[in-house]
Amino acid sequence: MPTLTTSSRTSLSFHSADIARVPRSLHQQGACVGYPDLEVFFSDAPLDIATAKSICAQCPIAAACHSYAMANERYGIWGNTTAEEREAAAGMSILTPEERRESASIQSAILQGMKVADIAAKFCVCDRTVYRYKRKMREQGLLAA
Ligand code: SF4
Repeated sequence: MPTLTTSSRTSLSFHSADIARVPRSLHQQGACVGYPDLEVFFSDAPLDIATAKSICAQCPIAAACHSYAMANERYGIWGNTTAEEREAAAGMSILTPEERRESASIQSAILQGMKVADIAAKFCVCDRTVYRYKRKMREQGLLAA
């Protein structure tokens, strides 16, 4: 089964654009590739949602797409799930574009070696939040233990 590479996931977590760049494998292998009306993947109409999900149900990379979407996509149907279904499954809100930018900036500050207190002050977050980022980055191999 195709999977997304670690390098593509890592680059996505630092992507500064409003919307994360979709991995090339999804462009090339997804069952939705070439579908003439991709708007159905971003519609609230029940018929559109059903149509999009029926396409996902036949997709050879649905599992990889779902995994990508759980981490990156707040809008639209990906991997046979709506954004609301992904949020419910994650038990938390998926990052908004603004939150994604802040997250990338905090991670960059950590990688640049800024002190925890300075990062917390700069981004108006508590010290514990910065430590949470550091813990997560260590688990992802982005920061030395
Ligand atoms: S799972 Fe759905 S959204 Fe994802 S690539 Fe396949 S068809 Fe497209």
